[in-house]
Amino acid sequence: MAFQLEKLLRPHISQIKPYSSARDEYSGKVGVFLDANENPYGSLTNEPFNRYPDPYQLEIKEKLASLKEVEIGQIFLGNGSDEAIDLLMRAFCNPGKDNIILLPPTYGMYEVSASINDIEIKRVNLTADFQLKVEEILAAVDEFTKVIFICSPNNPSGNKMDRNAIREVLQKFEGLVVVDEAYIDFSDEPSFIHELGKYSNLLVMQTFSKAWGLANLRIGMAFASTEIIRILNLIKPPYNISGLTQQKVLESLDQADRIDDLVKNVLSERIFLEDELDKLHFVLHVFPSHANFLLVKMDQARKIYEYLIHDMIIVRDRSKVVLCEDCLRISVGTREENIQLIEALNRYEPIIQNL
Ligand SMILES: *Cc1c(COP(=O)(O)O)cnc(C)c1O
Repeated sequence: MAFQLEKLLRPHISQIKPYSSARDEYSGKVGVFLDANENPYGSLTNEPFNRYPDPYQLEIKEKLASLKEVEIGQIFLGNGSDEAIDLLMRAFCNPGKDNIILLPPTYGMYEVSASINDIEIKRVNLTADFQLKVEEILAAVDEFTKVIFICSPNNPSGNKMDRNAIREVLQKFEGLVVVDEAYIDFSDEPSFIHELGKYSNLLVMQTFSKAWGLANLRIGMAFASTEIIRILNLIKPPYNISGLTQQKVLESLDQADRIDDLVKNVLSERIFLEDELDKLHFVLHVFPSHANFLLVKMDQARKIYEYLIHDMIIVRDRSKVVLCEDCLRISVGTREENIQLIEALNRYEPIIQNL
C-alpha cells in the first residue's frame, strides 16, 4: 500500500505550529491559575465553568481507549462528527484543485462541507440495493482525489456495506478512506476500528449523537493512525469540546454497560414499526435497516409527508434523492410515538380510497 500521509496533506499544513493554549503549557490540576484571563470569582451558575476545559479531553479519551481498544493517540473528538468532516477537508483537500468521492445516496454533510471548502465532488451512485460499485469508484479516482466517504450503516438507506468491498477500496485507493459508523451501535456488524492496524489510510467516524442519546451535546469521534489524528488535533479550534459536554460524556461513559439496553429498545421498536408499516397498502417497501431509522418506499411519498406534517408528525422526505425516489426516512420513536405515526397513516388510507 502506497499511502503516504505527507503526500496527501496540503503542503502548508505540515508547516503549521499549533496554537499553544494556556492549558497546554501547564497540565497540573492544582495551582494558582493566572494564565488564561479567566474570571477567578467563578460564574453566575455556581458551577466551575469559569475555567477553560481540557483541550485534548484526556479523561474521555482514556475511557474511550479501553472501550474501543485503541491508543489514546488514535482518538480525535470533535464538536459533532461534522467538525471532523470539515477538518478532513481542510487538512487534505486544496480548494479549487483536489476532489473527494461521495457515494449517493449518502449523508448530506460531506457535500455541504466540501462545497464550503470549495472542494470538487465526484459522485459514484450506489447499486440499486445500496452497495458499493467498487470498480467504478476506483475508476473515478484521479491524481487529485484525496478522500472517499463510505457510510456504513448508510444514511439514508439503513443498510450495512459489504465489508470486502470496503476493504478493496482501502487496499486499492492511495488516499484516505473515511468509514462513517454513526449507526454502528444498531448493527450486528463489527466496527472497522478493529482494522485500523491493517490500513494506514483508514479513518473511522462514530458519534455520541445517535445510540448514546447525546445529540444535543455535540460530540463525535474519529479513530485513525496517530499520525492522522495528530493532524486533526493540530488544526482544530483549541477548546472544541465544552467542559459541560466533557462532564456529561464522562458520566455517560461510566454507565457504558447500559447502552446495550437503550439500543435493544430501539431495535425492538424498529421491528414493531417495520411490521406495522408493512400492513399499509400504500407502503411499497420497507428497506431492511441496520440503523435506528427505516427507509420506506410509498405510493405518493411527498403527499404522505405533507399529510403527516399537518398532523404534526415530522419525518424526513427523501423522495427526491437519487435511488430513494418515493421514499421517506422515518426515525424509530418510542412505542407511543410509533403508534401515533401508524394511527395517522391508517387515517390516511380512506382519503386515498375516496379519490
Ligand atoms: C447523524 C450522523 C452523524 C452524526 O453527526 P454529529 O455531528 O456527530 O451529530 C454522522 N454521520 C452520519 C451518517 C449521520 O447520520
